[in-house]
Amino acid sequence: MKKVAIYARKSVEVKDSISIETQVNMCRNYFADEECEFEEFKDDGYSGGNTNRPAFKLLHKKIELNMIDTLICYKLDRLSRRVVDIADFFDLLDKKDIAFICVKDKYDTSTPMGRAMMYFASVFAQLERETIAERVRDSMLQLAKKGCWTGGPAPRGYELVKHGGKTYLKLIDRELILNLYNWYLELGSLYQVDMRAKGKYNMLKGRDTVRRFLRSPLYVQSSSEINDYLMKNGWKVFGNTNGCGYLTYGVSVKEPIAIVSKHEAVITPLLWLKVQEKLDEVRESIFKRKSKVYWLSGVLRCPYCKKPYVIVNSARNHYYACRSRVNRFHEHNKKCKNNKYVNSIKIESVIEKYILSFRDKVDFEHIYKSNSDNIYNSGIEALNKKIKKNSKMIDNLVSKVALLSNSGAEILLKKIDELSKENKQLEDKVRNEQLNVLEIESKKFDKSFIYENILNFSKTDNPEDKRNYVKNIFKYIDYDPINEKIVCKFL
Ligand SMILES: [Zn+2]
Repeated sequence: MKKVAIYARKSVEVKDSISIETQVNMCRNYFADEECEFEEFKDDGYSGGNTNRPAFKLLHKKIELNMIDTLICYKLDRLSRRVVDIADFFDLLDKKDIAFICVKDKYDTSTPMGRAMMYFASVFAQLERETIAERVRDSMLQLAKKGCWTGGPAPRGYELVKHGGKTYLKLIDRELILNLYNWYLELGSLYQVDMRAKGKYNMLKGRDTVRRFLRSPLYVQSSSEINDYLMKNGWKVFGNTNGCGYLTYGVSVKEPIAIVSKHEAVITPLLWLKVQEKLDEVRESIFKRKSKVYWLSGVLRCPYCKKPYVIVNSARNHYYACRSRVNRFHEHNKKCKNNKYVNSIKIESVIEKYILSFRDKVDFEHIYKSNSDNIYNSGIEALNKKIKKNSKMIDNLVSKVALLSNSGAEILLKKIDELSKENKQLEDKVRNEQLNVLEIESKKFDKSFIYENILNFSKTDNPEDKRNYVKNIFKYIDYDPINEKIVCKFL
């Protein structure tokens, strides 16, 4: 039988919008001549301005899992009021080959006209995305080129001054900026720069803050060398170099833009580049140390304190040791009882043998079944019971209202209203729980993916690859060096 999903939404703000039940009935009537299995997805009191709605999310998940053949709703704007959201949703429907019908808008993607509409919607959405991005970028560029500060607190060493309705940066602490850059070259450690800055200025907090400060093009006098460095490192650079500093955008979203601005910059290109070089060196060596040999780091866990193992180097050997045993700064100031330092070669070969034993598919299936916790007590049944009970009470109260005087009825109506509200909340809870259950269900599809990774693991000698495969197999591996025990948990 055809599985038809009915989506209905009513928002709080629009008083005259058509009721959820009417929407559902109109959808059901559309299929009056066909025998279908209906499932209703109802968002009562949710705005169409975003897709953060429990029933909609549940519907989305069910579509992803191919649990629906056809989707129907009363009007297109019930799905979303944003063209962008609708287009994304259409993409999904298209990919999953799901027919979509809109009762009021006479819209049916099983017809050519409906498909054309679908296409136009996605074209317009793309256009909207691009023009918004362009508009934002253009106005930002114009402001930045004029030297205007477009938001946020003043960067260290500067203050904000207002002039003609616009905000500009004014240099107030040349010494602080110069010191931090020079100290880093002198000390070669972000940690020590941070300590010294704390002592002298009582301001910067943490190595990351110091790093961001040293990395920022805001402090360097713009030049063609700096432009080159920035572009090589993925920045988009705008404006003609003039010796003033750059304003930056989009650093946090990894689409960094630097615009030559008009504020006075302290650091010469030579000094700034030297500092970048040093920072790059450190980054590279950390990267090498982390990823080169130790394919178990990040997955191997101490069974006593559940903290990961870390690599400890001695002159000749490398060891895995419990982090809360080794770490000087760990949380509770209590050392883990796991005091073993396990030779990295030994433990890696032990775990490797362990993983290779899963190559036998029957063995794997067996251990996977006993290992993954699919038992999820959702409590949906209890929630549904409560909803039913409330509905009964509402019905009872409604039948009594007619028999009462005005003042008596008012009390009952209030009670009815409360119960209805509670039921609405409970229904939302049920949707969320259903979503959780589906989330867990969909994880089961990963079994073959895990097995595939086990096979791939057995075929490679490259530690880098091994590490990636292991990450696709296990959530963690608990290794107890005291009792020589391994317990693993699949993803
Ligand atoms: Zn431990």
